[in-house]
Amino acid sequence: MKKIVFIDRDGVINVDIWKYVEYWHEFKFEPSAIKAMKSLTDAGFDIYIISNQAGVGDGIFTAEQLRDVHENMVAELAKHGVRIKGAHYCVHSRHANCACRKPKTGLLEKAVEGVTFDRGRTFFIGDKTGDIEAGKNFKVKTILVRTGYGAESEKKITKDLIPDHIVDDLGEAARVVLMSGDPAARDTANEA
Ligand SMILES: [Mg+2]
Ligand SMILES: [Zn+2]
Repeated sequence: MKKIVFIDRDGVINVDIWKYVEYWHEFKFEPSAIKAMKSLTDAGFDIYIISNQAGVGDGIFTAEQLRDVHENMVAELAKHGVRIKGAHYCVHSRHANCACRKPKTGLLEKAVEGVTFDRGRTFFIGDKTGDIEAGKNFKVKTILVRTGYGAESEKKITKDLIPDHIVDDLGEAARVVLMSGDPAARDTANEA
């Protein structure tokens, strides 16, 4: 049984700059992100990044640019001991009606195809209501972070779309994930 966590990218891992991140020099990690992902890596979680990047399909930037940002991000995280198990990006236009753009679950399905895991102990961490909806559609637990669009998203929560947790940032979200695990992990999280 794999321990898995799904994390949205913009506004969660990196600072949302209110436009698409087209170049690596525009990418800035959220202050708590690297340490948070390191603690998840160390606790044995497989981290999957699940991100909508419709700017590619809309012709705002290219798939090569997206790949360049991704590769730089993964390399920088690796320097800090963070392992990314997989990253799945929807590059289709928001008008394309594809099966993968969140809140649809195509990216999540692709990420964990053939993987055995416990949905009741698996979290989707995001900053938009679409992330929470995607998590709920995929029958996993959800955490809304207040970074990025999160503070705005918090105001839009309806009774059908209540996240399991609302926290300030990825650092706090990682602690929620760690504490929901086995008692040993819970002790480690409490010490941290
Ligand atoms: Mg986001
Ligand atoms: Zn798509």
